[in-house]
Amino acid sequence: MRWRTMLKDPRVKRIIKMLKELIYPEGFPCVGCWSEGRLYQRNLCAKCTKTLERNVRVCPVCGRSNYTGLCEDCRKGRQFSKAIAPYKYKGSAKGMVISLKYRDATHAADIMAQDIAAIWDDDIRVDVMTGVPSSQEAFIKRGYNQSYEIATRLSEIINVPFRELIGLKRSGKSQHFLTKEQRRQQYIDSFSCIGDVKNKRVLLVDDVLTTGATADACARVLIQSGALDVYVAVFASVPYNTAKYQKIAKKNSK
Ligand SMILES: [Zn+2]
Ligand SMILES: [Zn+2]
Repeated sequence: MRWRTMLKDPRVKRIIKMLKELIYPEGFPCVGCWSEGRLYQRNLCAKCTKTLERNVRVCPVCGRSNYTGLCEDCRKGRQFSKAIAPYKYKGSAKGMVISLKYRDATHAADIMAQDIAAIWDDDIRVDVMTGVPSSQEAFIKRGYNQSYEIATRLSEIINVPFRELIGLKRSGKSQHFLTKEQRRQQYIDSFSCIGDVKNKRVLLVDDVLTTGATADACARVLIQSGALDVYVAVFASVPYNTAKYQKIAKKNSK
């Protein structure tokens, strides 16, 4: 009984936490499912290391899985040349994105950057890289931009300078009475190029690619400002044309 009371003591709790950190120096809890315990590669628990799924049979443009050949969305035309993503947005890859976005786990971005770098094709020549800007709402809530967290780390690994190239124009209109879909559209419409991209090949980094609409909108303002080409690199992409994709695409457009 006394032992139990002791365990509840905040000082004892702090010591236990420090000991755990010594045993698992990579950081804990698991960035995939947020459980505590032994971590393996990528700061993931044993269960989560098994639920990472590589993208296979990808569309040659948007890089999403489950499609042989050009997908319908890319057939309609894209503003970017090519997008790459190491993992499918499911299982622990989804968990990692959620940890980075909603649980302040900025250290998850280290692994994400390494995983993108591992599939980065050095033959693709880019002069500069940037990230997708956060909406003002999201930035205030989080205090950081998850795309920049990944991009700045990737920048050091693949040796391409990072710059903030896309900003958000103020619309002047109140967002108060807008639906979620209208807000999202207003966010996408507010992108503007804020850096010198003339005659440059730009790499755009984000956490997830769903339909590719955000990446397209970013690429459009870069191309309009004189960029030669835009490539996209994300950590995970939603497999194309699965029931889940339809659901997520619908939700994102709401
Ligand atoms: Zn886990
Ligand atoms: Zn595609």
